[in-house]
Amino acid sequence: MSQENCIFCKIAAGEIPSATLYEDEEFRVILDVGPAAKGHMLVLPKEHYADILEMPEELTAKAFVVAKRMAQKMEQVLECDGINILQNNHEAAGQTVFHFHIHLIPRKKNDKIGLGWKPGTLSDADKAELLEKLR
Ligand code: 5GP
Ligand code: ZN
Repeated sequence: MSQENCIFCKIAAGEIPSATLYEDEEFRVILDVGPAAKGHMLVLPKEHYADILEMPEELTAKAFVVAKRMAQKMEQVLECDGINILQNNHEAAGQTVFHFHIHLIPRKKNDKIGLGWKPGTLSDADKAELLEKLR
């Protein structure tokens, strides 16, 4: 089901033209219009789900298989040194388009694309609390 006013629904359905790299019944893979690096692509399901938390498990699994296949092609064709596969959920995590998508970003050694974080520390108290709550 597509959602009115969702840009990725329209792109996935082909109602808005996009630079499509791959398409099947359930997915479309497109070039990102604001790439972090040349070749940055997005895997979009054709059905609308806002984020991974809403996605059925089977479709989620298929989306990551599509991402893996595109990553293999990306590595072969673009001869990149590495690939980031990212998937943002909710505004606090950097999501700006609220239709599930997976980013594939080709990386070169020392390309200075800032996707990192400063490592913190895992205290014994945090570890105990998280093991208690999340396991
Ligand atoms: P998010 O921040 O939600 O994880 O990522 C959204 C991504 O979608 C961004 O990288 C942005 O450049 C890309 N994007 C937003 N609008 C469009 C569009 O209309 N077409 C394409 N191809 N990419 C888009
Ligand atoms: Zn949508």
